[in-house]
Amino acid sequence: MGYLDEEVKRLQSIIDSIEGRVRDLETKQFGSSSKKTTDEIRMLLIGPPGAGKGTQAPKIKEKFNCCHLATGDMLRSQVAKKTTLGREAKKIMDQGGLVSDDIVIGMIKEELDNNPECKGGFILDGFPRTVPQAEGLDAMLKSRNQTLQHAVELQIDDALLVARITGRLVHPASGRSYHTAFNPPKVAMTDDITGEPLVQRSDDNAEALKKRLATYHKQTTPVVSYYKNTGIWKAVDASQEPGQVWNSLLAIFDNDKAKAEAAGSGILNKLAGRS
Ligand code: AMP
Repeated sequence: MGYLDEEVKRLQSIIDSIEGRVRDLETKQFGSSSKKTTDEIRMLLIGPPGAGKGTQAPKIKEKFNCCHLATGDMLRSQVAKKTTLGREAKKIMDQGGLVSDDIVIGMIKEELDNNPECKGGFILDGFPRTVPQAEGLDAMLKSRNQTLQHAVELQIDDALLVARITGRLVHPASGRSYHTAFNPPKVAMTDDITGEPLVQRSDDNAEALKKRLATYHKQTTPVVSYYKNTGIWKAVDASQEPGQVWNSLLAIFDNDKAKAEAAGSGILNKLAGRS
């Protein structure tokens, strides 16, 4: 092997080592390498009932191949099974109140520990709803050396929610939701995918909504301030069409990716400047 070949080999090994170091630095800065930022997601959606959390979360799940954890769906599944927890929870849910922090924190922990889909990250929908729940989540993630990437608030005026909620129909098994006027199923009262019947939630009426909104403003608005203080809060105008809301979410993810890439090249630029 001539001098030139030797030199190329030596330089290649230096480049490989620098690339490895850059990946490590990116991992330290973002919790994952720039490549994985698009593959792995750890985020939550905050918003009042009817803001569109349940419409957008399955799309995020599909894009990132992560788990979708909706505490409301988990509680409704307990109600349907008529477990002790389900019976207790139903009373609270129908009154528009909140189930105890310990119960919902325990449900999320159980999923993060055991649901294989959560290996690709998670999208939390309807959790955390109180500051103690947000603190519980932080503690859970800290013990796994993980951080949240986004806390997205779906912002919408209360006045727009009555029509959304009173016309909502859901497919209990999947959590898919429809609307009698804005997003009707292909066949009346039937899920497009499975052909199974759709139902109207017992708390999706004007009276319960009033209480759910009051609970939201009192208990969950402080959660928005909590995440504003951490720097991961982002707002999306949820009065837009679902497709536009989705585009706003994609813009958040793209911005994240661009930042990670810029940081990567920033590190390379710093290295280049030093050599
Ligand atoms: P949702 O499907 O998110 O609208 O939740 C329906 C109901 O379940 C709420 O009105 C609460 O009574 C209860 N619930 C859901 N998530 C939580 C939570 N994180 N903390 C306390 N209660 C919850």
